[in-house]
Amino acid sequence: MVSGLIVAMDGPSGSGKSSASRGVARALGLRYLDTGAMYRALTWWMLQLEVDLGDPAAIAAGAGEPMLEMNTDPDFPGVTLDGTRVDGPIRYPEVTRAVSAVSAVPEVRSRLVALQRELIEAALKEGGIVVEGRDIGTVVAPQAPVKVYLTASEEARATRRSAELAGTTVAAQRVELARRDTLDSTRKADPLAMAADAVELDTTALTLDEVVAEVLRLVKERA
Ligand code: C5P
Repeated sequence: MVSGLIVAMDGPSGSGKSSASRGVARALGLRYLDTGAMYRALTWWMLQLEVDLGDPAAIAAGAGEPMLEMNTDPDFPGVTLDGTRVDGPIRYPEVTRAVSAVSAVPEVRSRLVALQRELIEAALKEGGIVVEGRDIGTVVAPQAPVKVYLTASEEARATRRSAELAGTTVAAQRVELARRDTLDSTRKADPLAMAADAVELDTTALTLDEVVAEVLRLVKERA
């Protein structure tokens, strides 16, 4: 086990962050935090309550409401909202379509970033954590000694996403990913960005094992 380590894994959707992050966490005996799941959970909750997602003030008003708990075991990661597991519903297409509007609201970000930092602090006492998201190396944990920015070609990302989701096509995923990338990287609050000290890793032609091996090599080098 590596002690007190934070590995920041950022990048756009479909770049292979989740599988790689879990693989690295397992290999090193670290905790694992999927911050995207937190934004998705809040979005799902707002959709249930029919909050007007075109109105940032309405989103901000609900941002502090539901109780949100994260399981950071890389073998059983999970999200619990007001006592109910919501791992399935947060992956619904309607949540994916709406999440960028919710994650752009500063009140949402400040609540979730504070929660993410608490989870990181707790995990550091148990050896460390691999954290995946869009702003981990830049905002949530700029002190992380290992920062990876994963990328992949649009085609590869869309192909991976359509393989994960039933009833969709590569072409439809291409459009959806491009829309979400634009929203996530152009928002004012903590946009998707590569940290100056991150290592960019293009996963287009790599297998999952190769990506994990490369991150483990970086950990050895930097941590
Ligand atoms: O990683 P995933 O695709 O599940 O993330 C869902 C959405 O959550 C992203 O499109 C983005 O809007 C938001 N997000 C974010 N900051 C993070 C992680 C995710 O804004 N650290």
